[in-house]
Amino acid sequence: MAKVKPTASVSLDLDNQWSYMRTHGDAGWDSYPSYLAEVVPLALQALAAQGLKATVFLVGRDAQSHRELLRQIPEKGHEVGNHSQNHLQWLHQLPRPELEREIAQAEDAIVAATGIRPRGFRGPGFACSATLLQILAERGYEYDCSTFPTFIGPLARSYYFMTARKLTTQEKEERQDLFGDVRDGFRPLRSYLWTFDRGAGPAQAPLPELPELLEIPVTTMPGARTPIHMSYVLYLAQRSSFLALRYLQTALRLCELLKIEPSFLLHPLDFISGDTCSALRFFPAMAMPATDKRALVGRALHMLADRFDVVPMGEHARRLRASGSLPRKKPDLAA
Ligand SMILES: [Zn+2]
Repeated sequence: MAKVKPTASVSLDLDNQWSYMRTHGDAGWDSYPSYLAEVVPLALQALAAQGLKATVFLVGRDAQSHRELLRQIPEKGHEVGNHSQNHLQWLHQLPRPELEREIAQAEDAIVAATGIRPRGFRGPGFACSATLLQILAERGYEYDCSTFPTFIGPLARSYYFMTARKLTTQEKEERQDLFGDVRDGFRPLRSYLWTFDRGAGPAQAPLPELPELLEIPVTTMPGARTPIHMSYVLYLAQRSSFLALRYLQTALRLCELLKIEPSFLLHPLDFISGDTCSALRFFPAMAMPATDKRALVGRALHMLADRFDVVPMGEHARRLRASGSLPRKKPDLAA
C-alpha cells in the first residue's frame, strides 16, 4: 500500500510594492505603485508547474484596483484569504473599531473582486493581537495564520530601519514592534485552537460564546526557530543556493520526523528582481537574477511536494480540525 503523505500547506502573501515602500518610509508609496501585473502570472505559473493549489492572501485595496487580475486566482483553483485592507504592519496597535474596519473592508473588496468570502486571515507583517483574534472569531473565520514563531523579528526590524530614510517620531512609534519581538520565538510550531473568555455584557448577562479559531503558525525551523519561508531561503541562496536548499530540506525532514505539518510561505519578491522593481532594491536577494529565483522557488516547492501532501490552507484547516486532537489556548498576546 502506498504510504500516505502528511499534510502541508502553501500560501502567498500578495503584498504590493506600495505597502513595502510605506513601511520603509519611502516617498511615492501613496500613488500606490504596483507590480501585481508581473507577479501574479509568475506565481500562478510556479504553482501550476508543481501541480499545487495555494492560498493567496489579498490586500483589500489591491482587490479593489486589480479585479480582473485577481479573479484568476480562484478561477485556477486557489483559495483567497484576507490580508487586511491597507496592509498596515502596525495593525495590532489600532483601536478596535479601526481594526474591525481593516478586516471588514478587505473582506468586502475580496468578495467584490473574486466572488469568494475569505475564511482565513494573515496579519500584515505577522501583526496579531488578542482583539484581532476575537474579531476574527466573531466574524466566523475558520483560521488565523499570523503567528510566526521566530526569534529573529527584532533583527528583521533593525535591517528595515538601517536601510530606511530618517523616520519621524510617529512613524517610529508605529513601527516599534514591527515583525514582532523575541517572545514570539517560544510560540508553538504545531496548530492549536484559540478559545475565548467572553465575560459579561453591559447588562451583566453572559455574552454568547465565540467559536474557536484555529491557528496555523507560519512554520520555522524546528529547534532553532529560524525562518524557512521562501524569501529567507533566497536570502541564504545569495551565498550558496546549494546550502540554502539543504537548509530547507533539513527543516522539512525535521518537520516530518517531529510530526509538524509545515505551512510554507511565499512572497511576491520571490519571483522578481531589482530590474523589475528598482524601488525595492533594498530588500535582500533583489540583486539575484529573477530566473534564478524562480528556479529555486520551483526546487523548493518540489521538495515540499515530495514529502508532503500540499494543499491550500483552508483544506489544511479542515484536516486539522477533523483530526480532533488539537490543544487549546487562550489568546496570550497583548490586547
Ligand atoms: Zn504582507
